[in-house]
Amino acid sequence: MTYEPVIGLEVHIELQTQSKMFCACPVVDSVSAPPNTAVCPICAGHPGTLPVVNRQAVEYALRVAMALECSINPVSVFARKNYFYPDIPKGYQISQYEQPLAVNGRIVIETAEGEKAIRIRRVHLEEDTGKLTHVSADFAADGETDKRTTGESEKGYSLLDLNRAGVPLLEIVTEPDFHSAEEVRSYAERLRALVRYLGVNSGDLEKGVMRIEPNISVRKRGASELGTKVEIKNLNSFRALERGVAYEIKRHIAILEAGGKVAQETVGWDEARQATFSQRSKEDAHDYRYFPEPDLPPLVVSPDWQEAVREQLPELPWQVYRRFVDQYGLTRAEAWGLAAERAAAQYFDAVLQATTAGIRTVYAWVMGELLSLLNAAGRNFDLSPVPARELAALLNLIADGKVNQTTAKAVLAEMFKSGQSAASIVTEQGLSQVSDVDLIARLVSETLTENPAEVTSYRAGKVTVANWLFGQVMRKAGGRANPQLVRAELERQLACSG
Ligand code: ADP
Ligand code: MG
Ligand code: ZN
Repeated sequence: MTYEPVIGLEVHIELQTQSKMFCACPVVDSVSAPPNTAVCPICAGHPGTLPVVNRQAVEYALRVAMALECSINPVSVFARKNYFYPDIPKGYQISQYEQPLAVNGRIVIETAEGEKAIRIRRVHLEEDTGKLTHVSADFAADGETDKRTTGESEKGYSLLDLNRAGVPLLEIVTEPDFHSAEEVRSYAERLRALVRYLGVNSGDLEKGVMRIEPNISVRKRGASELGTKVEIKNLNSFRALERGVAYEIKRHIAILEAGGKVAQETVGWDEARQATFSQRSKEDAHDYRYFPEPDLPPLVVSPDWQEAVREQLPELPWQVYRRFVDQYGLTRAEAWGLAAERAAAQYFDAVLQATTAGIRTVYAWVMGELLSLLNAAGRNFDLSPVPARELAALLNLIADGKVNQTTAKAVLAEMFKSGQSAASIVTEQGLSQVSDVDLIARLVSETLTENPAEVTSYRAGKVTVANWLFGQVMRKAGGRANPQLVRAELERQLACSG
């Protein structure tokens, strides 16, 4: 019997606006900001305070919803989702329930069989919760190891940071359209690239600003009913996502094979054991006693506002990807490697526009030489000390035969360090390529005279010696000689003399 995995995703994305969703507190970095320094009576849930909707958050949400081809509801409604937990000081979370901001979108992902559309069920606005850190009795006692547990032990305690409480949160829910861990990963990667392109989120999964929760079930192939689903919470990397999904698929199949039933529950991912563990049995929507938020009017998005947001959408990551594959002829991996990072894609386009060098050459320099310099310096393309037009100028010097490849690499390293232009480095350091045929002929002939043994062994049939001799000539020329000319001249002299 074969089984078909079915997966739907819920993704939470913090909207990195200036201020929080319903108050004026700043949105601060959850890792570096000292705890409880961005808190006011509104986000701390004091009674008698009134929330006010953050217009920027709605605008960010609209960007994402539009890029996902959703229909925007002209009127959406905030609701209270009631539950008690210490990280939710009001005792409820303001969310959108029956009338979300946007519905019925789609996103195209890459699968082993090619591209495939995933349906987006809904995109809605809500607020994030505070952050609880549970410290176990062991840790509390010896203070040595960071053993965080569920806080059930006697001497353990929990720390509460409300900096994150009330940060605007966007929830994006798909239909159960995925059938493998790879498809899920492709979606997550495209979504991450999108929110970064749109400037609404940094995409730092490990900081928890983008949280992915897959719902996984398995059914007999050909069946029309969905199997019982299990939801994995708190995945903070693409790898954990892929592995967690694969783990659950396997686990479900094993249960079904043994004639058992999968229990509907919420599980966590244990990175150390590379396995999921049960957290709680699943609650139903009615447990939350949703009702419309009485302190907020319905959210109205006028056609003008929609239009204004739509006009400002940038070229989207998958559009850039398509262009790079279709127009530039890059491989899919190369194209996505560039397109996933807006700064990289823009840099690449800018170099290409300003140089006579071909696409392969530009690709090799941008994603090879320059990228390794950037990586070593811990910088991104948008902060490259060598602007795109300067790299283009260097590539033009190569194309025009003014410098050779080897020299150009050294020049780029110098440009990166000093910020000088390629032309001025070449002039100042006398690095321009030697294409003087008489000079090259003399260097070749000197080299052959100085290395009679190698010349003899070449003539005896050991042709690879030519490469060594080539290296000697290039060294004599200080690495600046035109390599094509040197090769040709070397071959000529080796063939004729003697
Ligand atoms: P809940 O109310 O439990 O969160 P929803 O019906 O709202 O469940 O769905 C949440 C997510 O789970 C959606 O992405 C949906 O596509 C997905 N999903 C729902 N049922 C299944 C199932 N049986 N198998 C896999 N995914 C599912
Ligand atoms: Mg759910
Ligand atoms: Zn506040």
